[in-house]
Amino acid sequence: MCHMYRGRFAPSPTGPLHFGSLLSAVASYLDARSQAGTWLIRLEDVDGTRCSSHFSQTIIETLNSYQLISDEEILYQSDRHELYQNHLEHLFDLGLVYPCNCTRADLKRTGGLHPDCCNGHTNTPHSWRAKCEQGCYTYEDPIQGTQHFDLSELRNHPVLKRKDNYFSYQLAVVVDDHLQNITDIVRGADLLETTGQQLWLYDQFTWQAPKLCHIPLIVNAQGDKISKQNHAKAIDDGCTDTLRRVLHYLGFSNIPAMRSIDTLLKWATENWNRNLPAHHNLALNSQDLHFI
Ligand code: GLU
Repeated sequence: MCHMYRGRFAPSPTGPLHFGSLLSAVASYLDARSQAGTWLIRLEDVDGTRCSSHFSQTIIETLNSYQLISDEEILYQSDRHELYQNHLEHLFDLGLVYPCNCTRADLKRTGGLHPDCCNGHTNTPHSWRAKCEQGCYTYEDPIQGTQHFDLSELRNHPVLKRKDNYFSYQLAVVVDDHLQNITDIVRGADLLETTGQQLWLYDQFTWQAPKLCHIPLIVNAQGDKISKQNHAKAIDDGCTDTLRRVLHYLGFSNIPAMRSIDTLLKWATENWNRNLPAHHNLALNSQDLHFI
């Protein structure tokens, strides 16, 4: 049976696109295109306290300036609260979520683990947590190798809906990847830590999880990732040299001196082979320090 590849890049618009996020975007795009697949952009602006429509717009513009254009209409998670609510209620009906009134201080006392004594009142501000505590999941990551998650070791009940009524990334990402029929996810290795709980959610909904592939993360000399929290710089729009540096970190060598983004992307699509080191982190070269 032919595999109708559907991939996506799903940035959270909490800042402009930086070098690290361009790397993920290009990797997911090349993986999709090299398998004649569809590639989508999805704006994960579910957290209304940190995301802004201004950043959504600049991220899309920057992506488009690198010829990274969504094949279908761009989906915004902020439009989909009702959908996430329906899925949360489904989990509630299955007895898998519960209201939680714990404060950060309460959880600190229990070492971050959820205490058994949470009274779960719904008449005071509460979040909804998932009873995610059993299940073993194993998958073969094409770059990182065999990945195994034993949820009983994790001992952490993730929040699916927060006290302020925003849904969490964990629930939204699983619901959307499923409803958009995403077959293949290529994203940064920082998200491996969330993968076990996502596989658990797929399991509870009895959905098949997409294939997963995690690319190494670019880090600075101190080992910090390039992130909005670390005030990563916005990248310039449509800059061939920047794209060439991205391709370098994606494992390409002998990158031809092409002047247009378009021809460079075509060349990279033809030569893409997921030939990346099985590391979670990749140190940034000194010549690239201006990107962070
Ligand atoms: N929105 C997430 C982020 O920007 C990525 C989601 C994903 O690729 O699964 O970190």
